[in-house]
Amino acid sequence: MAIVYPNSYYIGMSNLGIQAIYRLLNGYPDVVAERLFWGGTGQPAISLESQRPLRDFFLAAFSVPFELDFFNVVDILKASGIPLNAVERDEGHPVIIAGGATITANPMPLAPFFDCLCIGEVEPILPAVLSVMREGKGGRRDELLAALARLPGVYVPRFSSGQTVARQWAANLNEFPVFATVLTRDTELGDLYLLEVERGCNWSCRFCLVSTTFCPVRYRSLDSLLVQAETGLKYRKRVGLVGPEVSGHPQLEELLTRLRQMGAGLSISSLRVKPLSRPVLEKLAEGGVKTIALAPEAGSPRLRKLIGKTLTEEDILSAVDKVAEQGIRQLKLYFMVGLPTETDEDIEAIVRLAFKCKGVLDRWRGGTRLSINIAPFVPKAGTPFQWLPMAGTAILKGRISRLSKALSPRGIKVKSESPAWSQVQGVLARGDSALAGVLADVSEVSLSGWRRAVAGRNLDVDYVHRRWPAQQKLPWSVVDMGLKKGRLEAELGKALAE
Ligand code: SF4
Repeated sequence: MAIVYPNSYYIGMSNLGIQAIYRLLNGYPDVVAERLFWGGTGQPAISLESQRPLRDFFLAAFSVPFELDFFNVVDILKASGIPLNAVERDEGHPVIIAGGATITANPMPLAPFFDCLCIGEVEPILPAVLSVMREGKGGRRDELLAALARLPGVYVPRFSSGQTVARQWAANLNEFPVFATVLTRDTELGDLYLLEVERGCNWSCRFCLVSTTFCPVRYRSLDSLLVQAETGLKYRKRVGLVGPEVSGHPQLEELLTRLRQMGAGLSISSLRVKPLSRPVLEKLAEGGVKTIALAPEAGSPRLRKLIGKTLTEEDILSAVDKVAEQGIRQLKLYFMVGLPTETDEDIEAIVRLAFKCKGVLDRWRGGTRLSINIAPFVPKAGTPFQWLPMAGTAILKGRISRLSKALSPRGIKVKSESPAWSQVQGVLARGDSALAGVLADVSEVSLSGWRRAVAGRNLDVDYVHRRWPAQQKLPWSVVDMGLKKGRLEAELGKALAE
């Protein structure tokens, strides 16, 4: 089997999802799984382990974490000599499967390219898929796909009866340890031994996929984490704790204390502004953490409340104060622009808040540098904001420019994501299967290449800037997220009433 990551080795090997599936698959006595990455050369991708081309495998499993990687998915398939559209494949071609957060939220834009798409987490879906593959190997492709279509969490576009597919998740994470299986320096976080601490998030920010796609919140036990860390520390000096809300782990303080006693240096992927305890920050600083990232997301209390991030200014300033107290060298604050109902006044509120944070850091004279990361708000399928319009590129550019002009001269570094590419992301995140034609036609991955392909198909992608009526059938209605009926609409209603 091939495990395909539609981006470079350097990026892919820091992805714990890829590491987990590699370990899981190779743990079966009758399975050999090899890795393929996108090379960006237009040449056929070959596996790292045995240098085989993709078309020689029986099964190819793509993991697709980001919408902008959709272009690379198409590139890999085109270069492999395998028919791009699943309906054109026959018994001589691999069965091509996709999974990952983007697929779970909205499988439609890529659906025509895949024989089947996994909705949810891989661990509970994989055993049944493998069993069908074993039985179906050497048999008729349509019978194998029909059998896959009967499995929970598996969407086979060719055999879909229109019935929804229920998202699957692992009930007990301790049964499925997730850690770096293949260690390499040639990756973004190559000096860390990565450990997954938890899935899901206790917060319910209304723009964020995590609270719906990865719910419920599940934590790994302290013991299982320590056992894994002990192994990792034979190979690396630092442990990287991964998860959307690592700071929500009920035994975080004890975990950090024990890791320090084991001599581990530390790194953490996410900290919430609240609660953020001094002992946790102390342990992180002792463990060599040099950068802390916090995400207020909006500058004004009104907008924070509207998006579901119920932090007061005092919460944020107090968190900044605690970070500076520990002498941590770098503080990053994440904000979004183009949020629903946002006005120029909300942008000025980001400026004022950033100045106040800088003031707190300067009072400590500890040399902590402040940087601000700005991302345009992109409405995502499966969130309470899925019906809302995205702001136009001109507005987004204007707001980013205002922030940059106000903050940069005061020694606050400003980094931002491209509004134009965020718009492409927005189109892909809420698109339907007609987008597959556009993706297939893109001859060069650039904004002009994208626009030409959209124009060539005569597709109206301005839906990204329109508010969708709540009664409209959503392109991803095949996905059953497992949420209480009406929950997302109710959340949107509450937000707009703020
Ligand atoms: S934005 Fe962060 S805090 Fe909010 S739900 Fe998502 S992961 Fe949790």
